[in-house]
Amino acid sequence: MQSQQIEFLNDLVNTPGVSGYEQQVQQVVRDYAESFCDTMTTDLHGNLVLCKNPDADVRLMLAGHADQIGLIVSFIDDEGFIYTQTVGGWDPQQLIGQRMTVWSSSGPIPGVIARKAIHLLEGSEKKTVVKASDLWVDIGSQSRAETEQRVQIGDPITLQLGLQMLMNNRATGPAMDNRTGVWVVVEALRRSAALNPRCGFYAVTTVQEEVGLRGARTAAHSINPHIGIAVDVTHATDCPTITKYQNGSISLGGGPVVVRGPNINPEVNARLKRIAAENDIPFQQKALGRAAPNDSNALQVTRDGVAAGILAIPNRYMHSAVETICLDDLEHAADLLAKFAASVKDEKCFIPKIDQ
Ligand SMILES: [Zn+2]
Repeated sequence: MQSQQIEFLNDLVNTPGVSGYEQQVQQVVRDYAESFCDTMTTDLHGNLVLCKNPDADVRLMLAGHADQIGLIVSFIDDEGFIYTQTVGGWDPQQLIGQRMTVWSSSGPIPGVIARKAIHLLEGSEKKTVVKASDLWVDIGSQSRAETEQRVQIGDPITLQLGLQMLMNNRATGPAMDNRTGVWVVVEALRRSAALNPRCGFYAVTTVQEEVGLRGARTAAHSINPHIGIAVDVTHATDCPTITKYQNGSISLGGGPVVVRGPNINPEVNARLKRIAAENDIPFQQKALGRAAPNDSNALQVTRDGVAAGILAIPNRYMHSAVETICLDDLEHAADLLAKFAASVKDEKCFIPKIDQ
């Protein structure tokens, strides 16, 4: 990965974007993509739409959701501790002992989430699974008034952000779900320039995926694409305790994951695999027997129907402080999608046929 592209990823993962509060992330994308798209628009929900060839007859939309799971401030108690609601799907056990950041209108405020020490836990408490509603954020304040000077109801909170490189080109940190997908759709657009795609190429960094695919739904209605591919993370299964029987064999660094199942148009699936094979791009395969829990679900049932696909980035420890990905998978995903865009000329090819 070139230094400018690593810097872009680093900026993306160091910028907060709890669902509904994504505009700082979108600004990072605007600054990066300004020079290589024909149009750049932001809609009422905050979806950012980057486009090449807006006047083309056939439209391809890539969706990488810009939001991340987080918390929002719901209550401040007399001692100045902050109580929260969760935004998106949390395992509350992942929150205990974490450094957090409250993103207030006056700037970031560091805090922590913990629970009382093991020495103080009584019998049954040691076995209790903690609920998020039992946890509080401690910013060091000594009173409600002191907290209220800086924190407002509804302020978003994230895990302490940051990207840490590991061995073998792997990287870890919060929000790999789905800043990696944002990186891939924007990079695919940038890389496609050299291939002169004829389709209208829309790279969309969608909002509010983690709370019900809400941004993709309205963005897809507006763009009215023929083909729509969601780029999101999927569970890597190459670490202890995860069964491959249902989740498939997915490795970090094994290449982006091409998904197949009822949510996926057969030609999108076949074409992704064909183009990867022709260009020596490594890829992995995964089955999904239900409507997808990501933007491809909304894409598929937009208007008269969209030929939907999923290209996924393998991720260990999803929705935690240490989500772990391999940079090689991002590179290969961006290359594959740039070449896919160059191959799109006629939407009729995507009508399902008997031999697929
Ligand atoms: Zn995601």
